[in-house]
Amino acid sequence: MDAMSQTAFPVTLPCGYYDSRTGQVYNTATVVTMTGATRKAVADPQVRQSAARVLDTVLLHCVKTVGPYPVTQDVVDGMTLPDRDTLVAKIREASMGPLAHVTGDCSECGARGLSVEYDFRTLTFTGPVLDAQDIRDVFGKKFQCFPLNLPKHNVKAIFRYPVGSDQHKIANIIRKNPIEAMLILMRSTVVEWNGIPVNEVSPLLFEQLPVNVLDDLNVAFRDALPGPDFRAETTCTECGAAVDIDVDASDFIFPLAPKTRRK
Ligand SMILES: [Zn+2]
Repeated sequence: MDAMSQTAFPVTLPCGYYDSRTGQVYNTATVVTMTGATRKAVADPQVRQSAARVLDTVLLHCVKTVGPYPVTQDVVDGMTLPDRDTLVAKIREASMGPLAHVTGDCSECGARGLSVEYDFRTLTFTGPVLDAQDIRDVFGKKFQCFPLNLPKHNVKAIFRYPVGSDQHKIANIIRKNPIEAMLILMRSTVVEWNGIPVNEVSPLLFEQLPVNVLDDLNVAFRDALPGPDFRAETTCTECGAAVDIDVDASDFIFPLAPKTRRK
C-alpha cells in the first residue's frame, strides 16, 4: 500500500450542490488533504491575486466528488459561497491542523494587522438549510434562493445564494472597498424586492437605500448565509476595543510556509 496516499473523507454541504440537469440537490462532497501540488498551484502570483482563485484552486485540487460528479471549474463556479467556505475550512483543518494565525484591521480605530490565533475546533457551522431547496429561475438560469425580510423597514426580498462566479466578480474589490463589493454582491443576487422582479429592479436600488436600511440588510444578508462563521474575536492592541476580525476563507491558506519557526 502507498503510505503517502491521501484518505478521502466526506463533508456535508450547508446549501448543497444544485444540479440544473436533474433538479437534484447533493449535500455531500468527498475531499482529500492539500499536497505539495496544491501549495505550488496557490503560490502562483496570478492565483494569489484573487481570494476567489485561491479557493477555486484548493477546491479543484482537493474536492474529489460533489454528489455523483467529479469536480470541474464549472462545478466550483456554480457552488454556493457557504459550500465553498465549508469545504475550504474542512480541507484546511485536515491538512494543516486546527490552529491558524490570521490578521485583520480594527473596526473601531483602524489599527492594521491585528494578529489573531484562530482555532478551527471552536468554529461554528450553520446548516444544512432547507431554504437552499427553493430553486428559482433568474435570467434563464436556475439558482438556490432564500427570503430576506426586514419588517422594521417594510422590506420583503428574495435573494439567491451567491456562487463562485459571483465571488470572482468582487474578489479584487473586496479589500479596497468592502462596501462597494457588498453592493455589487447584493445587486447581482437580488431576485425579488417587495414583489418587484429582478428585471424591473433599479440597478441603483442599493445605492439609493437609506444607510440604516442598508446596514441592517447587510447584516441580515450575512446572517442568512449558512456555513462557517469565520469572524474572530480579539482585543485591539491600540485602542483596547473588543472587535470581530473579518476573516476570508482564503486567509487560512496563507502563509504558504512559515518564514521562521518558533523554538
Ligand atoms: Zn482599535
